[in-house]
Amino acid sequence: MPYATALRCRECARTYPLSPIAVCEWCFGPLEPTYDYAGITAALSRAEVATGPPSMWRYAPLLPVAAEGRIDLGAGFTPLVRAERLGAALGLERLWVKNDTVNPTGSFKDRVVSVALTAARQFGYAVAACASTGNLANSVAAHAAAAGMPAYVLVPADLEPAKLAASAVYGATLVAVEGTYDDVNRLSAELVDCHPDWAFVNVNLRAFYAEGSRTLAFEVAEQLGWRAPDHVVVPVGSGSQLTRIHRGFAELAAVSLLEEVPKVRVSGAQAAGCAPVAQAFASGAAHVRPVRPSTIARSIAIGNPADGGYALDVVRETGGAVASVSDEEIVAGIRLLARTEGIFAETAGGVTIATLAKLAAAGVVEADELVVAYVTGNGLKTVDALAGSSGPMVTIPPRLDAFAELVGEAR
Ligand SMILES: *Cc1c(COP(=O)(O)O)cnc(C)c1O
Ligand SMILES: [Zn+2]
Repeated sequence: MPYATALRCRECARTYPLSPIAVCEWCFGPLEPTYDYAGITAALSRAEVATGPPSMWRYAPLLPVAAEGRIDLGAGFTPLVRAERLGAALGLERLWVKNDTVNPTGSFKDRVVSVALTAARQFGYAVAACASTGNLANSVAAHAAAAGMPAYVLVPADLEPAKLAASAVYGATLVAVEGTYDDVNRLSAELVDCHPDWAFVNVNLRAFYAEGSRTLAFEVAEQLGWRAPDHVVVPVGSGSQLTRIHRGFAELAAVSLLEEVPKVRVSGAQAAGCAPVAQAFASGAAHVRPVRPSTIARSIAIGNPADGGYALDVVRETGGAVASVSDEEIVAGIRLLARTEGIFAETAGGVTIATLAKLAAAGVVEADELVVAYVTGNGLKTVDALAGSSGPMVTIPPRLDAFAELVGEAR
């Protein structure tokens, strides 16, 4: 494992060898890899990055696993789109959209899974598993299939049909659990003890898994011509992605790919039907209080977010905000992005765009800031959310006069 040196507890700073342990054995705090930044600085220049593969693995020295023998469907290095028409609609002069809808299984989860299953294989695991709100299950099932590993993916039973089908097709054992994601997650934590030979990507491999999200920061800086944005808007489920994007920008300075530690304001986006972090932000609370989710944004419907408190800290430290939007606003956000930029996002993307609109209207996101909105999942997975609102559709008989009448043409 080239440049990762150890795992360190976020709470008590105890260190452990790089190994698949879920939490700190001393205080149950979450673990994160530490890196030899001097070694990475020597190994990874801007020119080196530019000649790397067109995927997240162009940043291999910054990942906590060896790149040889990696499990790689081509996740990452997704387009950063200059969103002029959406920006004009929202009153923002310099808006960009990171379009992570185009990943191999249609969400940013391919980034974290590629790292986690690569780690799993290097640690000698034969079986992949996860607890998922949907997209993670799709991604684990696909990457496990490509690696020839059996997979067990656990999801809430009432998930969107497209997300169930897009896991089962890869041959994974799809386990639909009667309950919320938080119930699924609790069951998985218990299963880890019964199946020590299974790699639960977001339980015993969580320290490796989460690191994949940092590539969302690395790529944006590179795609902006090696500079960081002023403000990013990130959807919040567990809060893992938001905290890793924040750290990713700072690490680019630690390895001299950016000249100085950038000041990036980080804002979070949640659905009103599951907004524990937004509620804590609004009330000034020190801790995130769990909620019971009820929203169409299923992929981020996590009532008890593992990294919620850390996400709250990042937002407060950087001068961002966390806001939430209703299901109607989510659908409007999906449509606005599609109509202005030609990008079809899933409900979590609608949450990001609707929250961005709200924060821009409130002046929290400022008109002249360089803003990046992270759009993390593909709309084809949640088409049901658009039922009855996807815009004009007309049916005609196959005749020229019927068409002419429709468009108001004189014949
Ligand atoms: C999982 C997911 C998120 C949330 O990521 P966290 O790291 O859990 O906060 C956001 N968008 C999509 C599409 C997801 O699948
Ligand atoms: Zn600890």
